[in-house]
Amino acid sequence: MRLILLGPPGAGKGTQAKLLVERYGIVPLSTGDMLRAAVAAGTPVGLKAKDIMAGGGLVPDEVVVGIIADRILEPDAAQGFILDGFPRTVPQAEALDRLLKERGLKLDAVVELRVNESALLQRVEARVAQMEARGETVRIDDTPEVLSKRLAAYRAQTEPLVHYYSERRALLTIDGMMTIDEVTKEIERVLSAIVAAEKRAKAAPRKARELSKASKVAKTAAKAPVKADKAVKKQAAAAKTAPKKAAKKASKKPSKAAAKGAKKAASRNTAKKGGKKAVKKAAKVANKAARKAGSTAKKAAKKHAKSRSKTVKRLTKRR
Ligand code: ADP
Repeated sequence: MRLILLGPPGAGKGTQAKLLVERYGIVPLSTGDMLRAAVAAGTPVGLKAKDIMAGGGLVPDEVVVGIIADRILEPDAAQGFILDGFPRTVPQAEALDRLLKERGLKLDAVVELRVNESALLQRVEARVAQMEARGETVRIDDTPEVLSKRLAAYRAQTEPLVHYYSERRALLTIDGMMTIDEVTKEIERVLSAIVAAEKRAKAAPRKARELSKASKVAKTAAKAPVKADKAVKKQAAAAKTAPKKAAKKASKKPSKAAAKGAKKAASRNTAKKGGKKAVKKAAKVANKAARKAGSTAKKAAKKHAKSRSKTVKRLTKRR
């Protein structure tokens, strides 16, 4: 089983990781723990990470990817692992995808613990109090000021992974506001569903082979009834359309009532048309009259002009 736990600081990733490790016999890989160990040991990685971690920022991608790449190759991780605090950015998630692919490994699920932000400060304060009570050294980044920076880093850089993994159908979102026990039970419930689905998927190729053989036999056997069925269907279709055809034919001969209705409608139309016709006719007559009047006037004018010219001629002759 290979899992990722996703959620803001104080969501309960560390607590749930411990329980899941026992349940599935896998190794916990917490980049936060690894980096804290590197800081304590004063390794080159620790020296690089120290101040960044104290300020609530994120250690460079190449540093954490390098740590994880080495760690998942160790023999104890062969049975599976649970990543807590990694990946924290989209480039880290892409690097993890490449690492797993190169090694022929598959991620089983990404469990997102969703919590109300208002509850986170209280949870971290409670964690600090418990650690102090046990006499443990308190994390230097577990103060209200640094916590708000860690939260801001989560929102800006880590939350996009919710989308990243839901797009790849790997995301399982769990309500992290329930009690620790309830959250554990819920995670186990969704994970056992995944395990069952994976078992089914593994068995699927064998079943598919058996099924394809069986389906070939079934297909040959089924061909004859299919042909018969087609013929029956054709007949049934013909029987269905017959009444329709008859109805169409009958409708072509109009009934008396329909004839009456048609007459009425026709007379209404003629009345309307009649009105229009009269207007048209009047316009025609008027036009004709106008044309006639025009030509008469022209003729008269011509006549007048002719007689005038005659008179002029006559008069000029006399002179
Ligand atoms: P948290 O309780 O905030 O989830 P962690 O213990 O996982 O804290 O990590 C503590 C700090 O270690 C982070 O604030 C960050 O500075 C650094 N760190 C841990 N994991 C990563 C990572 N994958 N990428 C970058 N920085 C990391």
